[in-house]
Amino acid sequence: MKRAKIIANKKIEIINVPEPCPGDNQIKVKIAYCGICGSDLEEFHKSGDFSHCFGHEISGVVTEIGKDITKFKIGDKVAVHSYEALGFSEYTVESEERCIKLADNVDLKEAALLEPLAVVLCGIRYCDFKIGDTVYVSGCGSIGLLAIQALQSFGARKIIAANRNEFRRNKAKEFGADYVLDPSDKSSEEIVAIVEKEVGEKVDFSLECAGVNASMLACNKVLKPGKTLCALGLSPEAMMLSPFQLFVRPGTWEPGVKIQGMTPFDINMFEVGARLINEKKVNPLEIVSKIFPLDNIQEAFDFTLDRNIPQIKNLIKM
Ligand SMILES: [Zn+2]
Repeated sequence: MKRAKIIANKKIEIINVPEPCPGDNQIKVKIAYCGICGSDLEEFHKSGDFSHCFGHEISGVVTEIGKDITKFKIGDKVAVHSYEALGFSEYTVESEERCIKLADNVDLKEAALLEPLAVVLCGIRYCDFKIGDTVYVSGCGSIGLLAIQALQSFGARKIIAANRNEFRRNKAKEFGADYVLDPSDKSSEEIVAIVEKEVGEKVDFSLECAGVNASMLACNKVLKPGKTLCALGLSPEAMMLSPFQLFVRPGTWEPGVKIQGMTPFDINMFEVGARLINEKKVNPLEIVSKIFPLDNIQEAFDFTLDRNIPQIKNLIKM
C-alpha cells in the first residue's frame, strides 16, 4: 500500500509498504481522508525520519477486525483518535479504544474534521465556559473557526474574533463572530479598548488559537479578573507572561486570570462533535479549502504552507 513519508526538510515521498495486519484487539481501517494539521507542518519542516506521527485527523471504513473485537464490524465508518498515527496512508491498524464508530450517513470528509472539533470541544468543556459568557477568540484557523460555531451553539452572548488575515476575518464573520478585528498593528491595550467598546466590558472567556505570544498577551488582557484563558494554539514558541499578569491585574489588586490547556483529551467529544455536525450547528466542510489525492501530497503541503493563498484546512484523499 501507499504511504507518505517525510524524507528530508519539506520533502515528502510516497513509499510502498506492506498492508498492516490487525492484532486480536485491533481494527484495520481503509483511510478515506486525513486532514493536514499544523503539527504535520512542523514535521514537514524537519529533516530525517520523523514518521512517528504524521497525519492524525483520520476518517475511514473498517475492512478487517481482530478476533477480540466486538464493538465494530466490517463496513463501519470510523474516525480515528491517535497521536501516533500515520494517517497519510491507505490503511492503518488501531486498537478499539482509538476508533470512534460513526453513523452510516456520516460524510467521511466531515468525519476527518472531528479530531480538531474534539480539541475545541475539550477546551470549551474543561475551561469553564458558561452559557451567556462573552468570548474573545484569537486566531481564526480551523480551531478558532470551529470554536466560534461551537461557542455560538452553546450560548455565547457575544463573540469577538481576531486574525491578521482578511480572508480568515471574513470567515470568522460568516461563522458567527459578532465583531472581528485585525490585531497586527495593535498593542494589547488597543485590543482591550476595542473589546470594551464592542462588549461594554472585558470578556468572560478567551480562547487562544494562534499559538503566538502577542495573541496570548491579548487573550490575557481582555479577560475580566479571575476568568479563564483557554490555550489551544500549538507552537514551539515560548509564551511570555509575567507572574504579575497571572496573580493580579497590573496596576490594580484585582485577581489575575487562570490559564488552562485543553488536556485531558476526552474521546467522548468525538461523539458530541458528530452530533453538532449532524444538527448543522457546526459546518466543518466550510473550513475545507482544498482536497488533494495522496499522490499529490507534496503539492498539498507546499500549498498549505503558502501564506499568500487564502485557505483554512486542506485534506488528503486516499
Ligand atoms: Zn490536529
